Amino acid sequence: MLAEHPHRVRTQRLSGDHTSARTRSRAWELANQRDAGCEAPFVRDVWVCFGCSRFSIAPRATASYNQPMSAVTVLSEEERLFATSVLGFAKERIAPHAARMDEAAAMDPSLIEELFELGVMGIEIPEQYGGAGSSFFTAILAVEAFGRVDASFSVLVDVQNTLVNNALLRWGNEEQKQRYLPQMTSNWVGSYALSEAGSGSDAFALEARATEHDDHWLLNGQKLWITNANESKLFIVLANVAPERGYKGITAFLVERDFPGFGVGKKENKLGIRASSTCALNLENCKVPKRNVLGEVGKGYKIAIETLNEGRIGIGAQMLGIAQGAFDHAMAYMLQRKQFGKAIAEFQGVQFQYARLAMEIEAARLMVYNAARLKDEGRPFIKEAAMAKLFASEVAERSASMAVEFLGGVGFTKEYPVEKLYRDAKIGKIYEGTSNMQLQTIAKLVANEYG
Ligand SMILES: Cc1cc2nc3c(=O)[nH]c(=O)nc-3n(C[C@H](O)[C@H](O)[C@H](O)COP(=O)(O)OP(=O)(O)OC[C@H]3O[C@@H](n4cnc5c(N)ncnc54)[C@H](O)[C@@H]3O)c2cc1C
Repeated sequence: MLAEHPHRVRTQRLSGDHTSARTRSRAWELANQRDAGCEAPFVRDVWVCFGCSRFSIAPRATASYNQPMSAVTVLSEEERLFATSVLGFAKERIAPHAARMDEAAAMDPSLIEELFELGVMGIEIPEQYGGAGSSFFTAILAVEAFGRVDASFSVLVDVQNTLVNNALLRWGNEEQKQRYLPQMTSNWVGSYALSEAGSGSDAFALEARATEHDDHWLLNGQKLWITNANESKLFIVLANVAPERGYKGITAFLVERDFPGFGVGKKENKLGIRASSTCALNLENCKVPKRNVLGEVGKGYKIAIETLNEGRIGIGAQMLGIAQGAFDHAMAYMLQRKQFGKAIAEFQGVQFQYARLAMEIEAARLMVYNAARLKDEGRPFIKEAAMAKLFASEVAERSASMAVEFLGGVGFTKEYPVEKLYRDAKIGKIYEGTSNMQLQTIAKLVANEYG
């Protein structure tokens, strides 16, 4: 636990023109006071371990966004520290086990515990519920950082933050927030269950039913493709309470794993993100207390649409991470691998290829970051989110594919991580709305601008 960490240091937010150096020196000052037994009145913002560089950060969204930003990709000091810390954790703790977990198609549960300790499972959850009280953009930085190293951990963190926590924060009542948010920040993984055998792109054709009884609902049906299902304790399940009313009967329920009648079914054996569990959910007279309706009865379609609009920025970030991760491996290799007496990165034919790729990754980053910042600022972002997800998934696929080629024969083997990134990239064009569905959304919004 970070709480028992020997080097734990608490730094306070430094107002005004604080710089990295000043933040660090203040952190040292506080650390020394602490060592001397002084209990300084800290503001909880950044927890840094200068001993081993691990830390958990809780930048407050408002403070970041009240500061003028010079450019979309310029990170505030807190954002930069956070992103660096998460990437460092991913490289140090996850990367050495990624191939093994991919092969085994399972995550190491102790690493999931470490994610909670790191503070990345409740990034936007306010401090009063035990979360970091940070911004959506910060969550996006975490999803990207994990994506650079292991896309399975990236989607775990993504679904937790951008779908489940996000929906609870936005649509949950106070009692539900008090009951569930502290769990989500400390040890509960969450899932978001919309898809079924007959309803994928046509999401509202879902057939799961909910019937009302005295103090509870009974849910029946089957969900498919549910990410994190093996690890999750809480599932947001969409079911229809009044099929005759079409999509206006769809309702969101908070379903706990041990509710009677709930079961996790078959796990998919997948091409990529293999360590991420993707399972069926079986609902057989699953008894859900009435107080576990999320939002209003019959408003589940709104929850589903609006949550996924935001969630797909997270998939854009995951894909951006994959694209960057593959590119990093390729560049490192091409700078040291020699053919015809020089590094292959020096051949103009190769330079033109990686220059183009670098440009595409930069464009994807601009789109993903911009969509996330728009969302945090409460501005319209749906078109930008769809574009970011669509484009970043294309760039991820291209970057990972070219990385395999840049590495030549070894790129095709499991000795190097790029073949896994190549397999992992494919999912970006499929989940949280296929590429065609993104194009449909973009086309509709663009036409509206002219209509
Ligand atoms: C690994 C993985 C994890 C997932 N995790 C979750 C999860 O956690 N929760 C959840 O609810 N779901 C999840 N899903 C489901 C995912 O969101 C769906 O697979 C996705 O929405 C596509 O639905 P489908 O598979 O039924 O494809 P279909 O809808 O059958 O689409 C098949 C093809 O037809 C095209 N198509 C369909 N309709 C149109 C149209 N009108 N115009 C043009 N083209 C069209 C699609 O673009 C696609 O290329 C996951 C899926 C996978 C593979």
